[in-house]
Amino acid sequence: MAKGNIGVTSDNIFPVIKKFLYSDHEIFLRELVSNAVDATQKLKTLASVGEYKGELGDLTVRISIDPKKKTLTVSDRGIGMNAEEIDKYINQIAFSSAEEFVEKYKNDAQAIIGHFGLGFYSAFMVSKKVEIFTQSYREDSVAQHWSCKGDPEYTLEDSIKAERGTDIVLHIDNENKEFLEEARIEELLKKYCKFLPIPIAFGKKKEWKNDKYEETDEDNIINDTNPAWVKKPADLSEEDYSKFYRDLYPMQMDDPLFHIHLNVDYPFNLTGILYFPKIKNNIDIQRNKIQLYSNQVYVTDHVENIVPEYLTLLYGVIDSPDIPLNVSRSYLQADGNVKKISGHITKKVADRLNDIFKSDRKQFEEKWDDVKLFIQYGMLSDEKFYERAEKFALLKNIDGKYFTFDEYKDLVKGEQKDKNGDLIYLYANEKDAQYTYIEAAKAKGYDVLLMDGQLDVHVISQLEQKFEKTRFVRVDGDVVDKLIEKENAQKVNLTDIQRNAIISIFSSQLPEIEKTNFVVTLEQLSADSNPVFITQNEFMRRMKDMSAMQGGGGMMSFYGEMPDSYNLVVNTGHPLIEKLLKEEESATEAEITPLKAQYSELNSKVEALKAAHKDKKDEEIPTAEKEELDELHKKLDEISEKEKAVYKAYGDENKQVSQLIDLALLAHNMLKGEPLAKFVKRSVELM
Ligand code: ADP
Repeated sequence: MAKGNIGVTSDNIFPVIKKFLYSDHEIFLRELVSNAVDATQKLKTLASVGEYKGELGDLTVRISIDPKKKTLTVSDRGIGMNAEEIDKYINQIAFSSAEEFVEKYKNDAQAIIGHFGLGFYSAFMVSKKVEIFTQSYREDSVAQHWSCKGDPEYTLEDSIKAERGTDIVLHIDNENKEFLEEARIEELLKKYCKFLPIPIAFGKKKEWKNDKYEETDEDNIINDTNPAWVKKPADLSEEDYSKFYRDLYPMQMDDPLFHIHLNVDYPFNLTGILYFPKIKNNIDIQRNKIQLYSNQVYVTDHVENIVPEYLTLLYGVIDSPDIPLNVSRSYLQADGNVKKISGHITKKVADRLNDIFKSDRKQFEEKWDDVKLFIQYGMLSDEKFYERAEKFALLKNIDGKYFTFDEYKDLVKGEQKDKNGDLIYLYANEKDAQYTYIEAAKAKGYDVLLMDGQLDVHVISQLEQKFEKTRFVRVDGDVVDKLIEKENAQKVNLTDIQRNAIISIFSSQLPEIEKTNFVVTLEQLSADSNPVFITQNEFMRRMKDMSAMQGGGGMMSFYGEMPDSYNLVVNTGHPLIEKLLKEEESATEAEITPLKAQYSELNSKVEALKAAHKDKKDEEIPTAEKEELDELHKKLDEISEKEKAVYKAYGDENKQVSQLIDLALLAHNMLKGEPLAKFVKRSVELM
């Protein structure tokens, strides 16, 4: 029997392994099973090149636990080790034979699992003693028994072992008893070993018999050795992809929308399948659904630094032996390979979407509403992706028709240019609430986009930056004639008195809605436009939308605090308003005319005084004249107030004014509760 010290520079590496090496102790199982699979693959490789001529036999890797002896054993029928190899590979920590092996069998050893750093020694994270029983595949080699109690001292002796291969026996320590529980081990095997390329058996299958579960003769195989992503896309049907999706996510009810089969071998190795899941609502959006594998060994489901951020919303599997596994996240970000991989995945995803778009536009359109969130997110966050996606990203109009960016531009460029040559894209974000406006725009021959997605506010800003001379205007942003301002816009044709009368009358009847302001404005529009409209300034509205989405502080919360400001637009070209103006003039004449006379008299005094003061300095003006001026202003204000009162009285009397305002509110979905009840009552009275 040989005794020796494990060849590490540090005196005792075990405390380090136990505490710091891996934050998750459970990972030891992945390491040991990977080694077993690795050893088995090596044997297969040797057999395939004729260096091993014996029987391969059953190559299943078996995991077993013995609660009484408190051991967990991983057994394989791989190449095994002779004394020399144990010395070289086990005793010299951090010396990895995988590298040497791959170097030697470059062309045949594709499937060898890359090395995970201290692999085997992670067993000491959970064990007070580890034993190796191993029989090399080489003829004439003597079986070996290696044993170590978690200090640098080990023993190695000749032994007898019936079968070729290696048994690693862990004597689980008291702090890690969970690893002697069947359910826990099964859970871990399913997590890490589900797609390993060699069958992994954990005990026997159980059957419900005689009122309890009884073991059958059949191995309980944990894994699918040939998962979809390692197959060729040509060999897989749509159904196979859906089935694999379901294997990965048994709880997912809907089929995925699209899949993307990744397959690269230069300049790095990468395979995998990504899925666009069907998302029903925000709650469904989940990150970290992509699983990362290295040669079919599960590594992690945190892929943030490997795939671009927006793709972490996708589901599926990525398998690459070229991604460094046991390094810090910040290192991952800086790693050149990882960057390339990320760029490649972006390209692949875009290419695949473009293919579907080109070959099956109908299908693409049908799924657009579901995938647009992913695509828009990608376009907003990744310039490269935008450049690719602008060919297939779609805009949907209010009638449910889909257009590419170019197609849409062609559609609207005739009718929707304003007097400055800017192209105006009209959009609605609430089809029902903005119905009147949409209809008015359509009646003018305009097209209206439906932009009701979660990211559309941002998309609009982005597209305005990308497209030349193009603005998005919400369809209720102004009266239809002003949405797209043309050269020949009509001017309001009223006297100052008439203007003042209309504005005062309508202002006196404005509704009181919390955190909402109305300003009455006049527009000369066609007779078939509505007599009264409500519009909202596009800029203010967007700022408020953004602040609602971001919920942040600063400038955004400033906009969030502001009351909503609307214009109540009175169409002076409408016969009803013309009629109202006439009636009003004759009804208020008796009161307004004397007020106007007084007003102009006082006003001319003011003008005269002002003219006299024009070239004088403030101190040169006599105090008496200053006081007179103040007095005159006061009187003018009083007259204005009196006029307002007259107009208000008229407005109060004339039910049509309130009726017109209410109709405008109704069209803007703003008439609710008591005002709505009053409106209904008044409507009946007016009939
Ligand atoms: P790595 O797997 O990264 O090489 P390990 O510490 O896990 O590092 O293993 C060191 C070496 O020990 C392996 O490269 C392999 O040569 C040998 N080894 C470990 N487990 C087995 C096994 N089950 N059968 C044969 N050789 C093994």
